[in-house]
Amino acid sequence: MPCPSHNLCLTFPMHELALARSIERIVLRAAGGRVVKQVNVDVGALRQVVAPTLINCWSFVRSGNLGSAELSVNLIPAVISCKACLSKTRLQSPALYCGTCGSREVAVTSGDEFVVASIDVEGA
Ligand SMILES: [Zn+2]
Repeated sequence: MPCPSHNLCLTFPMHELALARSIERIVLRAAGGRVVKQVNVDVGALRQVVAPTLINCWSFVRSGNLGSAELSVNLIPAVISCKACLSKTRLQSPALYCGTCGSREVAVTSGDEFVVASIDVEGA
C-alpha cells in the first residue's frame, strides 16, 4: 500500500493542489454547512494555472458538503497598462512590456486574480 501523501505529491502539481485546497477552505466557510453544487472561480492568466489540472486537484480535495461540487474555472486574460504612453496591452506571453511603445514601466491591470467568484448551493 503506497503512502497516500507520497502518491499525492507525485500525481498532482503542488501549485494547483495548493490552490484547490485554498478554494476548499474559502468555500467551506462561505457555504456554512449547505451542500454546494458548483464553485465558480476567476483565475488570472498570470497565475499560470492549468485549468484541467486545477479541476483534477479539486475533484481530489473536495469532501463533506462539497463532495459533489463541480469547479468552473473562468480564465481572465492578462492586461497591462503602460505608464509611459498609457496604452493597454493584452499579454500573449508573460513578458511585461508595452505592446505599443515597448516601455517596461507597466502596471498589471488584470491577470493576477485568484477569486472564488460565487458558489451555487442546494435549494438556493
Ligand atoms: Zn507604452
